Amino acid sequence: MSHNHFADIILPFAVRGRFTYRIPVELSEDVRPGVMVTVQFGGRNLYSSIVCTLHDKTPDIKNVKSILKVNNKIPVINELQLKLWLWISEYYLCTEGEVMKAALPSEISLSNFKPRLETFIKLSEKFSDSKLNEILDKLKKAPKQQEVLSSYIRLTGYELGKEILSVSKSLLLSESHTSAGILDSIITKGYLQSDSHPVSRISEKDDYKEPIKELSVAQGKAFDSIKTHFAEKDIVLLHGVTSSGKTEIYIHLIEEQLKKGKQVLYMLPEIALTTQIILRLKRHFGTVTGVYHSRFSDSEKVEIWKRVAEKDSLNSYRLILGVRSSLFLPFSDLGLIIVDEEHDGSYKQHDPAPRYHARDSAIMLAAMHNAKTILGSASPSIESYNNAVIGKYGLTELKERFGFIKLPTIILANTREAYRKKLMVSHFTPELLQAIDEALSKEEQIILFQNRRGFSPYIECSECGWIPVCIQCSVNLTYHKGIGKIVCHYCGYTTNMPSKCDNCHSSAMVTKGFGTEKIEDEIKVVFPSARVARMDQDTTRNKNSFHKLIRAFEERRIDILIGTQMISKGLDFENLTVVGILNADNLLNYPDFRAHERSFQLMEQVSGRAGRRQKQGKVVIQTSDPANRVIRQVLRHDYSGMFRIQTEERMNFNYPPFCRMVEISIKHKDRSQLNYFSDVLGRYLREIFGKRVLGPESPVISQVQLWYIKNILLKIEREKPPAKAKQFIIEAIDRLEKEKGASGLKIAIDVDPY
Ligand code: ADP
Ligand code: ZN
Ligand code: ZN
Repeated sequence: MSHNHFADIILPFAVRGRFTYRIPVELSEDVRPGVMVTVQFGGRNLYSSIVCTLHDKTPDIKNVKSILKVNNKIPVINELQLKLWLWISEYYLCTEGEVMKAALPSEISLSNFKPRLETFIKLSEKFSDSKLNEILDKLKKAPKQQEVLSSYIRLTGYELGKEILSVSKSLLLSESHTSAGILDSIITKGYLQSDSHPVSRISEKDDYKEPIKELSVAQGKAFDSIKTHFAEKDIVLLHGVTSSGKTEIYIHLIEEQLKKGKQVLYMLPEIALTTQIILRLKRHFGTVTGVYHSRFSDSEKVEIWKRVAEKDSLNSYRLILGVRSSLFLPFSDLGLIIVDEEHDGSYKQHDPAPRYHARDSAIMLAAMHNAKTILGSASPSIESYNNAVIGKYGLTELKERFGFIKLPTIILANTREAYRKKLMVSHFTPELLQAIDEALSKEEQIILFQNRRGFSPYIECSECGWIPVCIQCSVNLTYHKGIGKIVCHYCGYTTNMPSKCDNCHSSAMVTKGFGTEKIEDEIKVVFPSARVARMDQDTTRNKNSFHKLIRAFEERRIDILIGTQMISKGLDFENLTVVGILNADNLLNYPDFRAHERSFQLMEQVSGRAGRRQKQGKVVIQTSDPANRVIRQVLRHDYSGMFRIQTEERMNFNYPPFCRMVEISIKHKDRSQLNYFSDVLGRYLREIFGKRVLGPESPVISQVQLWYIKNILLKIEREKPPAKAKQFIIEAIDRLEKEKGASGLKIAIDVDPY
């Protein structure tokens, strides 16, 4: 049999295109698409890279290098994954190497995966009879050894004539309070024996299976409607109000797929959400259910990866619950992808490349598997709802809450008026305080939402107005009282809280505005007997912190939970009746064409946490502008009003979904160089795109980590083929990069920026 002579491979970094290497004869058996190989690139550096295709076309260069080694004969990725990587790199204008880096848990551990071995101890065969009591009696003089043996009996429940069980060595040692040396001496005597076998790195609770819940009449109708759409369409948007039981519908759809032997991917925007949903899924589907997100260690990720890849093995995962990176798992036979909270901005990766949108990529992935996609949300993105309206997606609507519970009542609390009338108690309006008070007296729970972490977003000298800013970014430093420091939320720069003004040396430094930390402090003063906790980036750094906080709230060990957008999504708490939105104004005043859509979604979403079981919930929105149109829409839960007005505006001002946007961000450490080169790029782009080019402009935060930033925005017609436009963009950037002095530039392309 003849072999191909060349292989095109992907190198794990930002270099455009694939590279051709010669396949040495002795490796020709093993070099196949998807395997990881070692090659030399650029000087002496060695890289693990992925083989994509084999061929016999002699490349157009001298000295084609040879593949040095095949790291692992079994392919680490399959053809469908390669297809997805290629699509992402083409659509989002990044390199396949960048996708590879985001997709693979760890190059090293993937190709030489070592299962964790654990040592187990069991009674050796020859003593597993009536002699056991005798032995225990011999051992009287060695009480520690005796203790080990009796611990073993206790732990395994050993009885004469029954099966001999083994027990993990570490458990046996801790139970019997002895050292490994003592245990070794009994093993040497031949009473116990040890052996090692592979165990999972992922801690899994015992699964108990429960039948799935019967759907209500409304849910059943929605379920049927989804199935009817699926007969003709590949994508269905499930627009169901908060707590309408979308998750239960997904569970029914999942069951069908698993019964058919298919794989299912269930995506969520936030790790915090996986903690509750995973329990709901495992309750029904047991051990085929796995979770995937960035909090796992590399070796844990590799294990999950393997269990997805080995679809037909005994302990394979066929249902994966994950955040956006779960797209990259080695699925081979997906039947369904669920993108829950599909409107959520966290599905878009900002930095670094690949700047992909996980919802849109999921739709592509599903198509590659001939699978269906269901997008779910209580307040769908304008894009998705528009796709449903124009018939591209099926649309299923579910307008009532499960159990006929009413959507929460919304109370608007006017902060401007309350300040004027001196009715505010720190940052709380009388309306909010009363609602909290009532809930506490009924032993119900409360969530307070504030979209800023830290104590106060900035501090200021009350004499001269000086505000400390980051030394590397054009950003005010946020005061964190717990650590007594001021911190940059962009680069992490941290310094002591200044006691004096840098400018006028006055000691009148005051904190301004409020974040979650301050709210926590103040609520404790107002309600001293309430149990208060906070959930934001600062309190959830440890792997299990989400889980612990959510558990504590579920078990009613917390009365008031304060948090950022982390607490706004998808969580389901039985006894939560009051939600407070502390400052709606700073959501609305965001300089972005999506600001209204986003603030509607956020407010609707966080309101949706209230009153999900027996009784109707209450939401208090604090704002200085109660007449604001978006606030009025939230007040009436008026999604279609919001959709109608937003689409009108976007059509008038030419924004997505009526155009495609590509944002090019240009950075340089020298401001004048940046100004020069960004103008040059703007000119190149205008030569091709004319008025479709906006900018270059400085973003609100014009410097981050010492890099000055300018953005150029392109608005391209939907009707034009995007691939061609993208080619032009690449050419313009290539041209710029060839200019003298352009090497100090960093250029990032963001397709469909969010
Ligand atoms: P959503 O995902 O739309 O916000 P959930 O699926 O979380 O809603 O449902 C809200 C609550 O109602 C959950 O506690 C869920 O267990 C319960 N629920 C929904 N549907 C059913 C059903 N058919 N039978 C019993 N309980 C249900
Ligand atoms: Zn001052
Ligand atoms: Zn900074």
